[in-house]
Amino acid sequence: MTAAAWDDAEPVARWRGLPPLPGDRTADVCVVGLGASGLAAVEAALAQGLSVVGLDAGRVAGGAAGRNGGFLLGGAAPFLHDAIARWGDVAVTLYRETLAELDRLTAALPAGTVRRIGSIRLAGWPGAPDEREVDDCRAHAAALREHGIAVEDYDGPLGTGIVLPDDAAVNPAVRALATAQRLVPAAALHEHTAVTAVGPGAVRTTRGTVHAGAVVVAVDGRLPALLPELGERVRTVRLQMLATAAAPPGAVPCPVYGRWGYDYAQQDAAGRVLIGGGRDRFVDEEWTDSVAVTDGVQAHLETAAARLLGAPPAVTHRWAASVGYTGDGRPLCVRVADGPGGAVVAVGGYSGTGNLVGPVAARAALAYALSGTAPPAYLAS
Ligand SMILES: Cc1cc2nc3c(=O)[nH]c(=O)nc-3n(C[C@H](O)[C@H](O)[C@H](O)COP(=O)(O)OP(=O)(O)OC[C@H]3O[C@@H](n4cnc5c(N)ncnc54)[C@H](O)[C@@H]3O)c2cc1C
Repeated sequence: MTAAAWDDAEPVARWRGLPPLPGDRTADVCVVGLGASGLAAVEAALAQGLSVVGLDAGRVAGGAAGRNGGFLLGGAAPFLHDAIARWGDVAVTLYRETLAELDRLTAALPAGTVRRIGSIRLAGWPGAPDEREVDDCRAHAAALREHGIAVEDYDGPLGTGIVLPDDAAVNPAVRALATAQRLVPAAALHEHTAVTAVGPGAVRTTRGTVHAGAVVVAVDGRLPALLPELGERVRTVRLQMLATAAAPPGAVPCPVYGRWGYDYAQQDAAGRVLIGGGRDRFVDEEWTDSVAVTDGVQAHLETAAARLLGAPPAVTHRWAASVGYTGDGRPLCVRVADGPGGAVVAVGGYSGTGNLVGPVAARAALAYALSGTAPPAYLAS
């Protein structure tokens, strides 16, 4: 039951895999971590005509990038009004960058992979709305309107909240594997190659050393493990999900999230409902680098699914993955090493919302590693 339901999709099931690193190699750029963020850095380096080696300890998107809710939401983890209060107007710039990323992704992937069906933020979860969250939805909508970003009120069968028509849904594993497929063989991408140490000019792995002048580390929830010096700035959190047997079409019309975003669900083309959340009810337990599912969070998800669907669900899959959280929700883009051999820049800490922010940050990390271009202020450097 620990396989993600996304892996049942045909493009994932028929993924043949990529060979491990066959020994020492030299390239212009080395990217560590082949989730959606690392793949964006690989793609950006190739676009500049550079040679690239990309490494992952497991399968491409075998971590959170292939095991998440599949929400493609504008902005970062804090809702826009909250992000502006914390970081200033750069939060709006990041919001626009993520919408541009969504357009780019939609165009780059096979038609229909990205479903531009919007999202709904609920005040609470189906049932009586949470009045405090109704007010927060209003403040959220006001910030979006003030900056010319589409938003509508929602009052419907799922409850009360707002609709964000620009947002989208995807099978995140299909998204990443289709991207990797497009980049091979222009880039040398290697699975099952764990990186053990990263320094200026050299990336050491269990299979050999990659010599590269620019290194981008894009391992999000594994940052504290690989780069303990970032342990004060990013913490590993477990997030859990489950999938149900097919529900009636339209039961969840688009990605839906409520209870301040702690619970979230979408229905895939086969009618299955994929639901995640409950972290806030088990805060202490979920600060962990374990990816085992737990009875408490899974029971919460079953209750949340029953409220959404009107009946207890038949559960087919349960899974979890690690992500990185920062203190104020602002992602990191940090130059962790610099020397005659080159520069190492680490990105991550998307605080649970990295499907679009991750690629934006990873491109900034590549520019920082290659030419020293300081990252935009919406990233903490
Ligand atoms: C259950 C869940 C639901 C989520 N839902 C959403 C959502 O709906 N929308 C959204 O935007 N975000 C969501 N997120 C967050 C999102 O998944 C992450 O922010 C995003 O996937 C981060 O992508 P990444 O490529 O930076 O890192 P990851 O996906 O974590 O990929 C890092 C890769 O690095 C590899 N790696 C790690 N250590 C090493 C090493 N030492 N050597 C080599 N390789 C290594 C891993 O194997 C992994 O493949 C969710 C996360 C989870 C877990």
